Amino acid sequence: MPIPSMKDVEPTKYTLDAKFKFRCHKGIKCFTKCCSNINILLTPYDILRMKNRLGISSEEFLEKYTNMEIEKKTSHPFVILKMADDKEKKCPFVTPEGCTIYTDRPANCRYYPVGQASLKKGSEKGPVHEEFYFFIREQHCLGYQEDVEWTIQSWREDQEVSLYDDMNREWMEIQLRRDPAGEPLDTNKQAQIYTASYDLDRFRRYIFESRFLDVFDIDKNEIEKIKTDEIALMRLGFKYVKYLLMLEEALKVKEKYKKKS
Ligand code: SF4
Ligand code: SF4
Repeated sequence: MPIPSMKDVEPTKYTLDAKFKFRCHKGIKCFTKCCSNINILLTPYDILRMKNRLGISSEEFLEKYTNMEIEKKTSHPFVILKMADDKEKKCPFVTPEGCTIYTDRPANCRYYPVGQASLKKGSEKGPVHEEFYFFIREQHCLGYQEDVEWTIQSWREDQEVSLYDDMNREWMEIQLRRDPAGEPLDTNKQAQIYTASYDLDRFRRYIFESRFLDVFDIDKNEIEKIKTDEIALMRLGFKYVKYLLMLEEALKVKEKYKKKS
């Protein structure tokens, strides 16, 4: 989804059973209007799907189609889909016929016009994560005037977002666990987090061509798996990010390196 402008976000939190009327189809007057001049946040799994759809490496995808930004509060790197550098600012994948990567479009495009958010809240038992939904109502979007009724749950099923949510959950949790009041990340750490999160082909090379496997105690089966399984590689990337951010001992350092430190 677009990172919507706040004026377009309905300030009400909804649950999965919330009802709404909406239909998006090729015959609608506003067709593809939502695919220009927007900020679309990409998750690691979005990038994996899109670069494979295009048959290019993660490095090439990131270079050609994205911009990296730094989140102000947490100093965490994140990735935005790059729009065309002209007046219209179109998404590189939109054509008059629609989205050319439709079956591999990012999670946020799938959810639209529903937005999904997570908040970290304090409670007596400690911090809890609250997940909720909201509606984005952009003036140009005529889909709300159509007469097809959904719940947020049935919309999610129709747009096949469950797999994306499963793949993105651990990464979202990492974002929420970062302490905004903590030390800002230095550029070296930001670069490592960026590679382990988004640049999977480079991360794989880093694992096998640096001292990574000498320093960390990683199960042999996992090492074999990440040679060919990109989901396993992505999940190892999440562990490495947790280790870098000192969120938990997701990766174990081998004894000989512990003694040296
Ligand atoms: S990825 Fe597809 S659905 Fe998402 S903005 Fe681009 S063209 Fe539209
Ligand atoms: S109905 Fe809304 S989501 Fe569908 S094409 Fe039009 S602007 Fe985009």
